[in-house]
Amino acid sequence: MHQLPHFSDALKQLIASPSISSTQASWDQGNLDIIQILATWFEQIGFSIDIQKVPDTRNKYNLLAKLGSGEGGLLLAGHSDTVPFDENRWQSDPLKVVDKDDKFYGLGTCDMKGFFAFILQACKNLNASKLKKPLYILATADEETTMAGARFFAQQQLMKPDVAIIGEPTNLVPVVMHKGHMSHRITIQGQSGHSSKPSLGVNAIEIMYLVIGELISLKEKLISNYHNQAFDVTAPTLNLGAIKGGDNANRICGHCELDLDMRSLPGMTDAELINLLAGALAPLAEKYPNRISFDELHPSSPSFEQKQPSDFVSLAEEISGHQCCAVNYATEAPYIQQLGCQTIVLGPGSINQAHQPNEFLAYSEIDKTNLLLAAMINQYCF
Ligand SMILES: [Zn+2]
Repeated sequence: MHQLPHFSDALKQLIASPSISSTQASWDQGNLDIIQILATWFEQIGFSIDIQKVPDTRNKYNLLAKLGSGEGGLLLAGHSDTVPFDENRWQSDPLKVVDKDDKFYGLGTCDMKGFFAFILQACKNLNASKLKKPLYILATADEETTMAGARFFAQQQLMKPDVAIIGEPTNLVPVVMHKGHMSHRITIQGQSGHSSKPSLGVNAIEIMYLVIGELISLKEKLISNYHNQAFDVTAPTLNLGAIKGGDNANRICGHCELDLDMRSLPGMTDAELINLLAGALAPLAEKYPNRISFDELHPSSPSFEQKQPSDFVSLAEEISGHQCCAVNYATEAPYIQQLGCQTIVLGPGSINQAHQPNEFLAYSEIDKTNLLLAAMINQYCF
């Protein structure tokens, strides 16, 4: 039996195994190597390992590890991938952990391969024969792009833990809410023609002008009809992000596209938001038949809320010493919650370092994270 690595060695191995997710094929990488590193470690401790290929991805895998048996228990979850990096903006090799100024630098140290190194330390000396409920570890694929791994895992419904912790970098503050996100492209198909003969064409920019008017009304309607005081931006947002159309001043514009995004509040479904968008455009769609269409640009990610009061949230607040809060970024939490468990996002490191050059995990997080994981495993599995 190989010796299991200590925290910093485990972290080094995880960071050295590249698993970049990108919508650009040239950057996108598989994650089987890091999944196998995790499998080897946790198998040695006695976990049973289930590795599954995630459909519709470029060679990406989820890992589910289970220790103990029975119903319920605790799930510690995270994603195995990272974002791409810009080497010129890093002061060190992003794939090599540099230990400096009481910090571990490296791509994924806080977002969020580091969490698995913490889990390993927490599990090393567990007495599996005394477990009353199972302990699960989930490492997903493609969180940084499509969330395909978490979506697939939620569809499979392989298990139903009592509680789940997703170890994204929250500075160990329990996160119980975030907004959802979706982006759409609105396309206007006009009819091009010479600008001197307006009656022979249909100007797509002019129709888009009307569409934008409706979208701004919808934006205002969202602000006046929906609120959640837990967020610093209390209403759902609608942003007009990019527009293009036409080719020349003397041609009637035949085609125009507008990209927008919307961020929903917890409690609003994707379908509800899409219906509002469709409803806003319906009168114009009737006036200009077959000229206005809208399509999803990326798979949407739902909003998330862990309902309270919850013993789990209270315990997380007590152990971490922080009050729970809402955040502005999206996570896999809504998918994990579909397993039917109480779910929070809570992990070491700061979101300010995530997706940034010179990403790091500070030493100051280490003891607190070890205590947190030990207390949670003790509470829900023993
Ligand atoms: Zn992350």
